[in-house]
Amino acid sequence: MRFHVLTLFPEMIMDGLHTSILGRACEQGHISIDAVNIRDYTENKHKKVDDYPYGGGAGMLMQAQPVFDAYKAVEEKILARNKMASENFIPKMKARNQLQEKNSELEVANSENKNFTKPRVIYLTPQGSVFTQKMAEELAKEEDLVFLCGHYEGIDERVLEEIVTDYVSIGDYVLTGGELPAMVMIDAISRLVPNVLNNDVSAEFESFHDDLLEYPQYSRPEEWHDKKVPEVLLSGHHANIEKWRKEQSIIRTKERRPDLYEKWISKEENQKYLEKLNKQKAKKKSV
Ligand code: SAM
Repeated sequence: MRFHVLTLFPEMIMDGLHTSILGRACEQGHISIDAVNIRDYTENKHKKVDDYPYGGGAGMLMQAQPVFDAYKAVEEKILARNKMASENFIPKMKARNQLQEKNSELEVANSENKNFTKPRVIYLTPQGSVFTQKMAEELAKEEDLVFLCGHYEGIDERVLEEIVTDYVSIGDYVLTGGELPAMVMIDAISRLVPNVLNNDVSAEFESFHDDLLEYPQYSRPEEWHDKKVPEVLLSGHHANIEKWRKEQSIIRTKERRPDLYEKWISKEENQKYLEKLNKQKAKKKSV
């Protein structure tokens, strides 16, 4: 998966995302992160990229021209790479399908279309839909994603209308720029790309999976500050451990995120699960 970030502060993106797990994923070629300096594309001889907003008001606005040209350069690169890949891939696919005597036309057409469609362009803005794990899961299926980071008071509306496909916020507060939100999103999406995490299971059973928060976790030693690790976790009984964890997830979600809990409990199968759990508990108590 390839991330392309349009920004006035490329070093922020490159320094922030090339360490630890994502740094290793880049080195191993599972993802790539490229920051493009919008300032490099300005036609202004003083390298200016912002100006006063029409109608007055506080602050400056990023101008349309450098943003548009920076985006076009990235789009061109993505389309050229995809075209080259398809030129190598489609004849191979056709040959393979002929061998297998399959009707390959649809598969080839899909592949050809995919290679010439424009990438999704995400404008980070407090005015967008709030980023969620579900959104990360959906975006992780893309091959290329372009992030547009605003600064100052934002970006001229006209260029947004022309290039942006998704308006995304990371929460109901206002930051100075879109770089941190882009980094937050890239981190969350990258973790879902195959092979980025050592253990794929760890991304599958985390908080927000199935609308529940993750259960509490413990490591060595078995006792610390007079606090013992719950016995069930030392039992080696996998079914009991799983049951305990699910129960803890439910309790924790109800306490800390009642909004999520309401979503979880609104599903019939979850109500049934909870009823069964409560019955088992009541039975245990009466023994
Ligand atoms: N004047 C804008 C408004 O009221 O909507 C806010 C501009 S903000 C100071 C500058 C830039 O920071 C935005 O263009 C956007 O890229 C980014 N930004 C700020 N808060 C954000 C948030 N919560 N989520 C995503 N991006 C944000």
